[in-house]
Amino acid sequence: MTTSPRDEATGYVPSVAYTYDWYERFLERLLDDGYSPASYDEPLGDGDLVVRHDVDLSPARALDIGRIEADLGIRSTFFFLLTNPLYNPFHRPNRRVIHDLVEMGHDVGVHFSTHQYWGEDPGDGAIETRVAAERDVFGTALTDPSPAVSFHRPPEWVLSRSFDPFISTYERRFFSDVQYVGDSSQRWRESPPEVDGGPLQLLTHPGLWGTEDATFAQRVNEATEYQFERVAAFVQDEFVHDRNTIEEYDHRETPTPGRSEERSGGRRGG
Ligand SMILES: [Zn+2]
Repeated sequence: MTTSPRDEATGYVPSVAYTYDWYERFLERLLDDGYSPASYDEPLGDGDLVVRHDVDLSPARALDIGRIEADLGIRSTFFFLLTNPLYNPFHRPNRRVIHDLVEMGHDVGVHFSTHQYWGEDPGDGAIETRVAAERDVFGTALTDPSPAVSFHRPPEWVLSRSFDPFISTYERRFFSDVQYVGDSSQRWRESPPEVDGGPLQLLTHPGLWGTEDATFAQRVNEATEYQFERVAAFVQDEFVHDRNTIEEYDHRETPTPGRSEERSGGRRGG
């Protein structure tokens, strides 16, 4: 069940359902309360809202979230994980998602996993070199990647730390110096987001949301099943049957589980 984020009696957002509908109303409330969308290009001031998405599980759902925000006039930044075992950002259906997000006016950048390279802090130089390498590679999938980078499951040693060659979403000015509100592991169920009107960074993971509510474990299962089925079918087509069927794998044509017809039908914004 969805509870309205406008229920004044019990707080800013009394209870959270991980649905597109709830997320859309949460954003509307922030806008109504005077927040205005900002980017990582500038330091944040009171009422500035920088919206970020770490795409850990589902490019398809990133597209859904991107449409909701574009319809509300919100420009956000989507960070794709190049080292993700679950999706390949260069596979054409995923490049199309990136293209569509950019067309809607959103920014797209690298979601960087230190865990793929190091178990402990390797020092500024090593981090900057490796991040630059991933950003260069990602630059082949889109013309103008965001100057910002977000760290995946950030270790303690990247928090509140700045780097010369790129902007980190965990720099002090976007993290410890502002209000930072994130939906990681669906923690809003126990602790609904509160905002205070000051500068705000909002983080959501598109793969945790859908048309109907579902638990964190269910969302992870949905995402893996969706990806595995598509990969299995595509590999059969390409290698066993020697057929080029990539057009059929466009995320716009194959809705994610629990995704409404309206959204999958290509409701375009911005
Ligand atoms: Zn992540």
